Amino acid sequence: MTSLSPLLKQATPLVVDHALGSWIHATDGKSYLDFTTGIGVTSTGHCHPRVVEAAREQVGKIIHAQYTTVMHKPLLALTEKLGEVLPEGLDSVFYANSGSEAVEAAIRLARMATGRPNIVVFQGGFHGRTVAAASLTTAGTKFSAGFSPLMSGVHMSVFPYAYRYGWDEAAAVEFALKELDYLFQTRTAPNDTAAFLIEPALGDGGYLPTPAAFLEGLRERADRHGIQLIFDEVQAGVGRMGKFWGHQYSTATPDILITAKGIASGFPISAIAASTELMSKGWPGSQGGTYGGNAVSAAAGVATLDVVRDEGLVENSRIRGEQLQTGLKDIQARFPVIGDVRGKGLMQGIEFTTEDGTPDAATAAAVQQATTNHGLLTLTCGPAGNVVRLIPALIVTAEEITTGLERFENAIATVTAAAPVPAGR
Ligand code: PMP
Repeated sequence: MTSLSPLLKQATPLVVDHALGSWIHATDGKSYLDFTTGIGVTSTGHCHPRVVEAAREQVGKIIHAQYTTVMHKPLLALTEKLGEVLPEGLDSVFYANSGSEAVEAAIRLARMATGRPNIVVFQGGFHGRTVAAASLTTAGTKFSAGFSPLMSGVHMSVFPYAYRYGWDEAAAVEFALKELDYLFQTRTAPNDTAAFLIEPALGDGGYLPTPAAFLEGLRERADRHGIQLIFDEVQAGVGRMGKFWGHQYSTATPDILITAKGIASGFPISAIAASTELMSKGWPGSQGGTYGGNAVSAAAGVATLDVVRDEGLVENSRIRGEQLQTGLKDIQARFPVIGDVRGKGLMQGIEFTTEDGTPDAATAAAVQQATTNHGLLTLTCGPAGNVVRLIPALIVTAEEITTGLERFENAIATVTAAAPVPAGR
């Protein structure tokens, strides 16, 4: 009998029957509150009626309108809609399928535009699993071990991880910028550096918002040295962090923005945006692919952006994110295994540590497993695997956040065998 490859690791044993909004209904007959959203993908919730309708309608018109052969209306519409939300000046969009592919497209463009070989990434960053994207990923050696050689020309600088260093944010930013300047003196000269690649919040690397001052420090250095600043908004974008783009907590804007995941509520499509001038430094045909910019995905993308706007989902993400973080900080006060609670919007991380601050992956893993038993789906992340991340849909309600918090606390209580949760919570 054929079976699924053991290469695939699964966070829960569930088989899904169907899903709607924030809820997954499994074949075990139970319903689960989904605070994973398919790793931050189902932004408008599962099977939002407007997204379903847009996709259904498009399937009846044309499914695969191969975009280097013919152009199709949904991609033109999506490009126009993206124009309403993209940072000023990023007026040219190239489409692919996955986050990894878009990351590779951004790197290719930055190298072609500058004629320089090197890319600087920041410790803990996650940029994908294809070999080039894995070469840019430092969110854990598990993403790059065992299949070297990796792509060359990648240099890693320090990320301002204040909690890890036990410093305040300003001190961590100052240190990380100094180390970057030192990297310029010791490893990759500015004239050899094509791009900085960074997430507005470390995603798989630990759910850690990138301090605004750090992004601004990168912008200043990028301008000074003619380096392209690339923001990987694959996980953080489309309202996830309580602003449309995660980098909008800072004044820095990117030369190249990468988006995927939440942009089409679960249909595979990704994109990079840059100025027409920058895009023109590549040549027609220098990028492409068979499936990029799929018509059904693009139609779902248009519907997703409409729903995000019409239902005020960026604002909902900010408000429900504050509710979630407040509740998590309350729980932290009752459970010393929680070292840190952090995040912006509906991208919240809970870092588990032992009493002396050492990462506690065993407890994080046990809590993640226990949440499933309590009817809440969660994921872990972080290089040590000691962070549980909560990624509700942007349509999540106040009641659902309350339910999620209750279930999360009950799961921690089971794992730590702490006193039962007080009645009324
Ligand atoms: N960049 C970021 C920030 C991501 O979070 C991810 C996926 N977790 C990727 C890139 C890669 O995307 P994909 O899995 O679609 O290739």
